[in-house]
Amino acid sequence: MTFKNFIDGQWTDAAGQSENVNPSDLTDIVGHYASADVQQAEDAIQAARAALPAWRDTSPQLRADALDFIGTELLARRAELGKLLSREEGKILTEGIGEVTRAGQVFKFYAQEALRIAGSHIRSVRPGIHVDVRHEPVGVVGLITPWNFPIAIPAWKTAPALAYGNTVVLKPAELTPAMAWALTDIISRSGIPSGVFNLVMGSGRKVGGCLSASPHVDALSFTGSVATGRIVREAVTARGGRAQQEMGGKSPLVVLDDADLENAVSCAIGGSVVSTGQRCTSNTRIIATPGIHDQLLEAMTTRCRALRVGHALEETSDLGPVVDSRQMEVNQKYIEIARQEGAEIMCGGEQLELAHEGHYMAPAVVGRASNSMRHVREEIFGPVVSVLKAEDYDHALALANDSDLALSSGICTKSLRYAEDFKSRSEAGMVMVNLPTAGVDYHVPFGGRKSSSFGSREQGTAAREFFTSSKTCYTLPLS
Ligand code: ADP
Repeated sequence: MTFKNFIDGQWTDAAGQSENVNPSDLTDIVGHYASADVQQAEDAIQAARAALPAWRDTSPQLRADALDFIGTELLARRAELGKLLSREEGKILTEGIGEVTRAGQVFKFYAQEALRIAGSHIRSVRPGIHVDVRHEPVGVVGLITPWNFPIAIPAWKTAPALAYGNTVVLKPAELTPAMAWALTDIISRSGIPSGVFNLVMGSGRKVGGCLSASPHVDALSFTGSVATGRIVREAVTARGGRAQQEMGGKSPLVVLDDADLENAVSCAIGGSVVSTGQRCTSNTRIIATPGIHDQLLEAMTTRCRALRVGHALEETSDLGPVVDSRQMEVNQKYIEIARQEGAEIMCGGEQLELAHEGHYMAPAVVGRASNSMRHVREEIFGPVVSVLKAEDYDHALALANDSDLALSSGICTKSLRYAEDFKSRSEAGMVMVNLPTAGVDYHVPFGGRKSSSFGSREQGTAAREFFTSSKTCYTLPLS
């Protein structure tokens, strides 16, 4: 059996298909998934365009009910779908279930938002004229998503897109079609009319390229790498489309002398190598002041060594596998680069052979790192965390800000003065105090600055900016 694409309300086969392999056990085939070609991507865009006029005028109640249905089913099936997620992507089961739960909560949130699409009435500066500002759907939206959060990211793009009255074509990552398919299966039974939501699985270059280039896609929301993001952005903006992008991160976590050591270690390790380091918000640069640096490095190394790497579905595993062999090569390359640059691999970094054949790697703490080193400047996306020494708070802040990427940042300190100063002067889009830089809420804005992001923020009510277009109306009542 092949899992099909969903175009104009029909499950549609494709000439090509891809094999979805469990990274924890390469003998376990999760399923075979249809790979759409360019024609099918265009059919999906056409279906979304045809469905737009009716959907943009639907009652908010219908949208709210459909989104609530989707959220309810995701929450009810969190254990089953969480297991599928862990099999497909390799994150441990508690995280897989947590991610499905998050996706359900996101749909529930936007079910309510569909009922709150408000505008504003403003007094005109001219006598007798009324001004009102409305927020209308932007139109057909393309969604291109990555493999590392295979249901949460499709959820936090799809739910607001539909709530605000847009029609959708979703192109999930090649490595994780199962979660996108499972979400689509639920959407297909939610009462949403044909053509409003379409799924086209397949090649980034072909199917994603088609969504980026098509003049019939009004807005495109992308999450993925900086390099691909640039290609997508150029294609979308060159044709006058609207783009929103979340890309890489190299988040700093500053640890000051007065920090609670135990909490700082938990943040430093829990926010980096856990989840196999496959989060764009990971705190991969730990910047410690001299009074705590040595103790922190030692405690992080001890904590990291104790982490158990294993099959994502085994209860004893703290860390699952790397997602695929290509990502493993990247991780290994950066470990080698770190060594050559003169940093010290305190623990881990090596590939592991376990009972199941999978892409296992021991998480690594890298000491004696500096901000000029390549492995510290470039995003790795693997279980590798680097520790840098700063002279004092100001130096630590300067190092934290010295990056092209500025998604999230954090500081561990008991000092209110430094915490407040860091919140003001950090250049990142999200700032954490005494918390890991990874781990965010779903009802507040999500996004970064500099090369990490482009366009308006995702999630919460902030999503309205991207998924709607404002219209300012002036009325002069004549009678
Ligand atoms: P990663 O390296 O983590 O796979 P990418 O940025 O390459 O991250 O992929 C993120 C998403 O972008 C995936 O859905 C992928 O298929 C898609 N993609 C890859 N290349 C292109 C492209 N040239 N145009 C549009 N989408 C693409």
